[in-house]
Amino acid sequence: MSECIFCKIVQKEVPASIVYEDELLVAFKDIFPQAPVHLLIVPKAHCESLSRMTTEAEMATSRVPFLAAKLAADHGLVGGGWRLIANTGADAGQTVFHLHFHLLGGKPLGGKLCQ
Ligand code: 5GP
Ligand code: ZN
Repeated sequence: MSECIFCKIVQKEVPASIVYEDELLVAFKDIFPQAPVHLLIVPKAHCESLSRMTTEAEMATSRVPFLAAKLAADHGLVGGGWRLIANTGADAGQTVFHLHFHLLGGKPLGGKLCQ
């Protein structure tokens, strides 16, 4: 998608602090971090959200929990804990409509799923 910011990051047309990349997924630091560790795990294939899943994105997405656990370990989050979330649609606060998973940790994140 030509106007999608995360497609541009995947294509290296826009810089990002990439911490992991393979043939299906890329992970990079969120530009406005909400925690000491705040990474975005992004399927390379454009897909709007979990509500608009494509076959291509499904393969990548199935690997996200495993990659999140690896990145959490790499960033020293296993002892304290971490959170993996995908805001899906406007009511959930999704602002970038290229499927992505937030990996957050490095401080107590609070117990609320919604306020
Ligand atoms: P959402 O609100 O859609 O769940 O999350 C989008 C996330 O993308 C936000 O946390 C926001 O800070 C991050 N973000 C938006 N634009 C950019 C960008 O150009 N680069 C990076 N690294 N993160 C971005
Ligand atoms: Zn995209």
